[in-house]
Amino acid sequence: MSNIREKLAALKTSATDIIAAATDVKSLEEARLRFLGKKGALTAILKQMGTLSAEERPQIGAVANRAREHIEAALSDRLKDVKAAALQQSLKDERLDVTLPGKALPQGHFHPLNIVVEDLKEIFHGMGYTVVDGPEVECVKYVFDMLNTHEGHPAREPSDTFYIDDDTVLRTQTSSVQIRTMLETKPPIAIISPGRVYRVDESDATHSPVFHQCEGLVVGEDITFADLKGTLETFMKKLYGDSVRLRFRPHHFPYTEPSAEVDLSCFKCGGEGCSFCKGEGWLEMLGSGVVHPDVLRNCGIDPNKYTGFAFGIGLERIAMMRYAVDDIRLFYENDVRFLSQF
Ligand SMILES: [Zn+2]
Repeated sequence: MSNIREKLAALKTSATDIIAAATDVKSLEEARLRFLGKKGALTAILKQMGTLSAEERPQIGAVANRAREHIEAALSDRLKDVKAAALQQSLKDERLDVTLPGKALPQGHFHPLNIVVEDLKEIFHGMGYTVVDGPEVECVKYVFDMLNTHEGHPAREPSDTFYIDDDTVLRTQTSSVQIRTMLETKPPIAIISPGRVYRVDESDATHSPVFHQCEGLVVGEDITFADLKGTLETFMKKLYGDSVRLRFRPHHFPYTEPSAEVDLSCFKCGGEGCSFCKGEGWLEMLGSGVVHPDVLRNCGIDPNKYTGFAFGIGLERIAMMRYAVDDIRLFYENDVRFLSQF
């Protein structure tokens, strides 16, 4: 009997040491199988119970139970410690430094011409205008005939205009949108139509066969040249600041009468003359005029009741002046080094 007692005591000591030395879940499971498993050390000792007397069995049974409980408790405690240590280790290993600067994704930009278009839209929305779009492949009738630009006018020559066929061209100006609007809408009308236009031209620093214009049209009762002047003055001051002045020079366009070219006092030198305005003090900005009665008549609008004004401005010119860009081709080459500056 004392032999079994000793074996149990030795088992308890040995198990306690091994469990205390275990550093992971796997070795603790191995220790459990080794001491408490079906083929483990405790089971092997208890097999010898048969050699004991009837009085001795309960006593040794109680000692064996205490040894089992002791080993189970030691396993359970050590498992908690090992798991806690493993958690601490993984927190340490997987630590993130949230103060490290992130990797910024490159952001897209508006194209400088789109910035100008958005500015124009905002200015004219504020004055009660609506924005109207129209086709770039357009009928000769809308681009030339109905705008009083009759057969024989130099602008109609194939040396100036891209023809798709005899009756269809790539529009040379956004004025065709005016015609479409006047055919569909009764006055009062107040629209702008920004868009792409095409002319046969060699590409160089100031010319491109495709460029952008914004056309404006107002038709209503008692609309006069004074309204045109007031509108353009408001427009230019919003674009270039309150100190700019406008100068109207007589001109000729087939679709307006009277017609005027409009110059802006140089916003760099205030009109004194500088390299930007080539010493002139003035910058050519746009063409404008009072809508020709024939154009109104062509669209079924009575010129005795209604009058109107129209103007057209080049968007590249506004962008080149605003951003000091000296080559128009930069707007179309899509060089990111250029575009990312806006
Ligand atoms: Zn100047």
